[in-house]
Amino acid sequence: MTAARLALELAVTLRHDGHGGVADDLAGPEGLAVWLRERAAPLDRAPGPALPDEALHTAVRELRAAVRSLFARAVRPGPPSSADAHRLLPEEEALRRLNAAAALVPTVPRLAWEPGAQPAVRHHPAGSAPPADRIVAALARAALDFLTGPDLALLRACPAPRCVRYFVKDHARQEWCTPSCGNRARVARHHERRREGRTGAP
Ligand SMILES: [Zn+2]
Repeated sequence: MTAARLALELAVTLRHDGHGGVADDLAGPEGLAVWLRERAAPLDRAPGPALPDEALHTAVRELRAAVRSLFARAVRPGPPSSADAHRLLPEEEALRRLNAAAALVPTVPRLAWEPGAQPAVRHHPAGSAPPADRIVAALARAALDFLTGPDLALLRACPAPRCVRYFVKDHARQEWCTPSCGNRARVARHHERRREGRTGAP
């Protein structure tokens, strides 16, 4: 996983709950703890408290709202995810919030050149910022990378019934976030056609 994809992973912690509603993987600090633990490597994480405190929990959720607002802008003229379409953060506030989060921790550029890969600049945290700030700033930097990188043009809100996920198209014909969403959408279309067929019958 590239660091930029962390931004997408943060956005999709709001997801379809399987029963027509929306589930939030980051509803409480415990959920955030699990989510962060699974991403210790790309987050470049210094060992911090096992359970995030309320301030970190709030900061990550506020950052997610900013990312989702900018994702909604990015997929236009397509519709945004319906999970928060009715309560999106204004774009200017989203930009301000994202930039403020990225500025929490100063960074130093470092050139990385892995065998067989292109040279790339990575920005590493400088100094000794508190672990919570490092996490929020790393997530914000991932969002900056994502929003200025090649994945942005491929970002979509999944149009399957009830799905609220954003996803990056991996190939040109991909319409849905996952094959299961594609199946559900096809079934829904099939029922729709049958219903239309019935109402059209004498
Ligand atoms: Zn989907």
